[in-house]
Amino acid sequence: MDDLLARLGEILGPGGLLTGAEVTGRRAGPWAGSGTILAKAIARPRETAQVAAVMKLCHEARQPVIPFGGLTGLVHGTASGPDDLLLSLELMNQIEHVDPVGRTMQVQAGCLLQRIQEAAEHEGLLFPLDLGARGSCTIGGNVSTNAGGNRVIRFGMTRELVLGLEAVLADGTVISSMNSMLKNNAGFDLKQLFIGTEGVLGIVTRLVLRLREAPASQNTAFVAFADFPSVTAFLKHVDRRLGGNLSAFEVLWRDVYDLLTSPPATGRPPLERGAPFYALVESLGGDQESDDIRFTAALEAALESGLIVDAAIARNLAERNAMWGIRDDVGQFQRFAPVTGFDVSLPIRDMDAYGETLARGIRARWPEGRVWIFGHLGDGNLHVVVGVGSADEETKRAVDEIVYRPLAALGGSVSAEHGIGLDKKPHLGLSRNAEEITLMRRLKAMLDPRNILNPGKVLEMP
Ligand SMILES: Cc1cc2nc3c(=O)[nH]c(=O)nc-3n(C[C@H](O)[C@H](O)[C@H](O)COP(=O)(O)OP(=O)(O)OC[C@H]3O[C@@H](n4cnc5c(N)ncnc54)[C@H](O)[C@@H]3O)c2cc1C
Repeated sequence: MDDLLARLGEILGPGGLLTGAEVTGRRAGPWAGSGTILAKAIARPRETAQVAAVMKLCHEARQPVIPFGGLTGLVHGTASGPDDLLLSLELMNQIEHVDPVGRTMQVQAGCLLQRIQEAAEHEGLLFPLDLGARGSCTIGGNVSTNAGGNRVIRFGMTRELVLGLEAVLADGTVISSMNSMLKNNAGFDLKQLFIGTEGVLGIVTRLVLRLREAPASQNTAFVAFADFPSVTAFLKHVDRRLGGNLSAFEVLWRDVYDLLTSPPATGRPPLERGAPFYALVESLGGDQESDDIRFTAALEAALESGLIVDAAIARNLAERNAMWGIRDDVGQFQRFAPVTGFDVSLPIRDMDAYGETLARGIRARWPEGRVWIFGHLGDGNLHVVVGVGSADEETKRAVDEIVYRPLAALGGSVSAEHGIGLDKKPHLGLSRNAEEITLMRRLKAMLDPRNILNPGKVLEMP
């Protein structure tokens, strides 16, 4: 290993290889209790050629390599041991080029999502991917997890926002597929191999992203519902009335609304407490004046027909940010640690019954147990947080079983947007069939025959 480290140091140059306290002093995840990084060293390449040289060497030495970006992933996809080499994209953080006519942006994988959003905005354009971790997560991490976030209902997941990609394979081969065309059906779309595959098939180094025209209007509101059928009926109503402008539909079950709008959370309730469901609804459009009228009319019609029982429309940017601040304040659940977070998808119409079954199952076993439900309901995606006072392996297994068991029958998924990582690996078979998993293994074996890239994540290799 010492010889390998010396050779890596030569490839990476001054500051390119961290060891000792520079490694163990770093936090391993997004929360205060995430612990610190365990690894032999952290490689910090500055360009693709260095990534390729590092991988070539590690392939020869059979050295496991775990790529990471902002370490905000929620499924322990970057978990490491003392003999692993971590590879950080933090020094490959440049925005290389913005094309306002073709509406594309070329970036390095370590660029923070928020910087990309701001650079697009600077050109009067929009990069639609948005999530609470925007200030810490990297575009390479977003692509590797095929992140979803707040605007999937309108613009799709990260996969839909990537036109081209460059990746380095386990043996150091560079696959440059930096297409910038919206349409390109010339053979296999190889970039898909590296989107949502969590660093097990290659290291993403550069990307061509698809941008949209920046919206000229934003309308945001919190609404309250009397029951769940009203939530689903209102989703259809507001989508129809906004004529394609609906860009977010985030639902909070009552307990989550109460938690995120009560001290010590900084959010204050935009609507009275007591309703069983609340939603944050947002429309992005082309003309503020006419969109204000359309948005208000859609909400008024819903109030009149009883689809919603209350509504608060943001009157300015500060009120809009305060509403999103409530939705994004998911760190509040950590106050009840140990808690386990889940990210499931299932048909929207089944969500209420699923939530009730879940809460019943948890309380039957842990009478003091707590279940919080919220999420991107418009995308068929719920986040579930469960706290039962313990997170030892046996408890975790029992909680997993209660959360996941109903999903297979509903045609749902054990991971809607966070990926599989280590946490969901035992449950992959609930959402993918045996032939799909076999093909995944064959692809992994072909692209990484020595199983050195993020080994043990997503799939167990024979
Ligand atoms: C407050 C908060 C809110 C969140 N909200 C959402 C949300 O709404 N939707 C959502 O989908 N996720 C959400 N997440 C999860 C997380 O932010 C995303 O998964 C994000 O895309 C991870 O990016 P990252 O740069 O932090 O990646 P990391 O955590 O560093 O890595 C994640 C995975 O990608 C791999 N990886 C990272 N970079 C590369 C690369 N360049 N090449 C190959 N593999 C790589 C890693 O090995 C790992 O498997 C949230 C997280 C937090 C903390």
